[in-house]
Amino acid sequence: MNNMTLVKLVYDTTYYDLLEVSVDASDAEIKKAYKKKAMQHHPNPDNPQAHETFQKIGQAYETLSNPNDRASYDSHGPDGPPRGGGMGGGGMDMDDLFEQMFGGGFGGIGGGFEFEMGGGGGGGGGPSRRKPTKGKDTIIAYDISLEDVYKGKKVIMNLERDRICQGCKGSGARSGVQPKECGNCEGKGTILTDRHIAPGFLGKVKSPCPSCNGQGKKIREKEKCKKCKGLKVTKEKKRIEFMIDPGTEDGERIALRGEGDEEPDIPAGDIIFLIRHLPHPSFKPQPHSPGSLSILISIRLSESLLGFSRILFIHLDGRGIKIESKKGERIIKPNSIYIIKNEGLPIRGTSRKGDIYIKFDVEFPNEDWAKSLALQDELNSSSSSENTKIELPGKKPDLKIDGQVVVRQLSLKPIN
Ligand SMILES: [Zn+2]
Ligand SMILES: [Zn+2]
Repeated sequence: MNNMTLVKLVYDTTYYDLLEVSVDASDAEIKKAYKKKAMQHHPNPDNPQAHETFQKIGQAYETLSNPNDRASYDSHGPDGPPRGGGMGGGGMDMDDLFEQMFGGGFGGIGGGFEFEMGGGGGGGGGPSRRKPTKGKDTIIAYDISLEDVYKGKKVIMNLERDRICQGCKGSGARSGVQPKECGNCEGKGTILTDRHIAPGFLGKVKSPCPSCNGQGKKIREKEKCKKCKGLKVTKEKKRIEFMIDPGTEDGERIALRGEGDEEPDIPAGDIIFLIRHLPHPSFKPQPHSPGSLSILISIRLSESLLGFSRILFIHLDGRGIKIESKKGERIIKPNSIYIIKNEGLPIRGTSRKGDIYIKFDVEFPNEDWAKSLALQDELNSSSSSENTKIELPGKKPDLKIDGQVVVRQLSLKPIN
């Protein structure tokens, strides 16, 4: 290195790299980068990797846009403080999440313990110990069918969360008992330990005192609150309700402010639902066109040449979509793509919908059909085969549906 620059030293740069911003990027820069990246990596069927990348970008933004979480990430990386217990960064799966929700502890991200380095840090001020300004957030992945994305869905769920113990009002001690200062950390709640911060860098890191769990105060066993056993919080089951609006995007987050875990003296954390679209057997998201869906439809050769008027598919809300393609209007070639305007998913924040992209598969008659033509020629051997009129297999039968049928226009020309 021949060029000395003072840089902010962080434990891990993955999130910054994902958004392609520098480690000292401003909040505005991070937001701008996130928007750009989210557009670039919007999930689509041509690129199965996109879904994963899109979620990682969301995770990175979630962390870096929250000052507390960003500070924790900068000093400890995506897994949070060494004490562990949180569910950390990406890579969570539903089993873990539900284990956390209904089983034992309620995980969360955040924390907000700061580490101390000589110089380096943005402000360059002296050592300061910042307490978390609110409780841990809880992220819950929520899978939703495309039918529900189309119509919107009200979700009702029972979950378990930490609430301030009503027995001791969050002190953890029996009434009349004052917690004592912790001897291990002399009441500071943190201890200094050596830690490998980056290749070649060893720093003194402030970490929560294991003896008092970062509280700075301890209560003797027999003086602990009976209800919470000194934990200050108790588990509470709560029925929560929230609305997934029509058109909610894959990877979108819905935050229920203050519905997460409570900790003494700070506002409760949030519950954040991470919406994930389930794959649909017929409809796929159409890349680069918000709200648009693609579907593969099979028609017969006679229909491609002579037109048709029938229900081509059943929409996500159960309506039959009938298309008339008149004789002489168009010849639909195999793999050509036509558009039905304004029949895709609702686009959030607008009254518009995306489009439906129909890719046509054209079924040719089979060999039995050709053989039967040959047989007919033999039977009518007297007549010239050049003048024979051939009859193609007819149109496909209409789909049987219970719901409403609507007629929609197909674009006159294919887009490919
Ligand atoms: Zn208690
Ligand atoms: Zn202590």
